[in-house]
Amino acid sequence: MPESNSVIHKDLTNYLKHYGFFFPNAEIYGGLAKAWDLGPYGAELKRKLKNLCPHNVGCDSQIITHPQILAASGHLKNFHDWLVECRQCRKRYRLDNLISSEQFSVFLSQKDKNNYQVKKNCPRCGKNDFHPPRQFNLLLTTNLEITEDKENVAYLRPETCQGIFTNFALIQRSTHRQLPFGVGQIGKSFRNEITLHHGIFRTREFEQMELEFFFALPKEELPHYAKKTQDLYFNYHFGWGELCSNSHRGNYDLSQHSQHSQKDLRVNGTIPEVIEVSFGVERLMLAILQDTYHEEKVAGSQTERTVLRLPPLLAPFFVAIIPLSQQLRNTAYQLYLDLLPEVSFSLTYEEAPNIGKAYRRQDAIGTIYCLTVDFDTADPNSSHYNTLTCRHRDSMEQIRISRSEGIGDDKITKSLSEITIMNANWENEPTLPPQTISNN
Ligand SMILES: [Zn+2]
Repeated sequence: MPESNSVIHKDLTNYLKHYGFFFPNAEIYGGLAKAWDLGPYGAELKRKLKNLCPHNVGCDSQIITHPQILAASGHLKNFHDWLVECRQCRKRYRLDNLISSEQFSVFLSQKDKNNYQVKKNCPRCGKNDFHPPRQFNLLLTTNLEITEDKENVAYLRPETCQGIFTNFALIQRSTHRQLPFGVGQIGKSFRNEITLHHGIFRTREFEQMELEFFFALPKEELPHYAKKTQDLYFNYHFGWGELCSNSHRGNYDLSQHSQHSQKDLRVNGTIPEVIEVSFGVERLMLAILQDTYHEEKVAGSQTERTVLRLPPLLAPFFVAIIPLSQQLRNTAYQLYLDLLPEVSFSLTYEEAPNIGKAYRRQDAIGTIYCLTVDFDTADPNSSHYNTLTCRHRDSMEQIRISRSEGIGDDKITKSLSEITIMNANWENEPTLPPQTISNN
C-alpha cells in the first residue's frame, strides 16, 4: 500500500469517528475486532441512502435461516475459503490471499488437498511451516433451543436474496405480478471471514441491498445466453475494491429450492431466470464519504475546513439552525422546535463557542444550509427583524432570508424552498440567488 493511501486511511478513519459516522463497536470494552457501529450522522446517511433504493416489490425476510435453505442454495457445502495456519506463529491466512492466483488454481485442481505444501514464507514470522489447508465455512451459526444440540443449529443469512427466492411463489401470487418483475430486499447479512482488512470495507456483519430481477428466457435464446458476473469497482483509500456485483444467476436458485422443497416454482411452465444487483451498504457509504470528503483552505482567510460535499438527498441534514451567541440560544432553539414539524427537509440544531466553529462542524458533516439567528433576528426595532442569515455549504455565500410571524406558512420554509428544494436533486446542487452578503 502506498504511504499516501495509509495517511488518507488514517485521516479518513479518524474523521469518520470524530464526526459521528462510524464508531468502533464496543469501544468502551476494548472493541470487538473489525466491527463498527454507526454514529448519529452515519445512521442518518444510511437511512437516506436506503430510501433512495427503488423497489416496487419488496420483502423483509428473517435473518435466522432454515438450514435447508442453505443446503439447497449450496452454501452448506460450498460457501468456504481455504484456511492455512502458520505452525510457528499461529497466524491464519486465506490461502488465495497468501499465494498467487496461478498457484491457487493449481491447488484447486489437486485431488489431494490435504498434502498441499504452501510454497511461501509466512509474512509475519518468515518461516515456511504451515498446517495443510482446510476448509473454513463462512456461515455464522446460532442455536435455537436451550440445549446446544447439533439438530438445532440455524444460520445467520449470508445473503438477503435467499429470502426472496424462498418466498418467490408467495410474492408472485400475492402481488399478481407477471414476468418480468423485480423483488428487492435491504437487510443485514453475515459472513464469518478468516481475515478482515480495510476497516469498514469488510466486516462479519453488514447490510446488503439486493434486487432480484426475474424474467423468462425465450427458448430460442437459451443456447446463446452466457451467465455472467459484472462487478463494479471503486478506488477506495486502500486500492480498488468491489462496490456492486451484478450477476446473472440463471435459474439455479429457484431450481434448487424447487427440487429440495418439492414445490412448483414455475411461472407459465418454466422456472424464471434471475439477474441480481447486489450492493453492500457500508461499502457504498464508504465510497460516498471518501468521494465527497475534501480538505481545503477557506478563500480569503487563513483557516482550513473539512467539507463533505454530499448531494442534498444524502446529506444527514439539509439545514442547521445556529444561534450567533449564547444569548440567542432560546430564540434559536424555539425556531428549531417550531420548524421541525413544518418542514419537509431534515433539520438540526447546532451550538458552538463561536459561529465559525459551528459552520466548520456543519461543513464537516455535509449540511447544505446553515441558518443563523443573530441579534437583528430577535430585535423588533431592527430593519432585519425576523430575518436570518442563510449560508450555503459549498460556496459559503450568505444571504438574508425573511421569516414572517405565522410559523404555519413560514417565510423561512418558503424562501428556502424557493432557493433549494425545487432544484435540489441528484444532478443539481442547490444554489443561492446572486445577492450575497459575505463569505465566512
Ligand atoms: Zn508465521
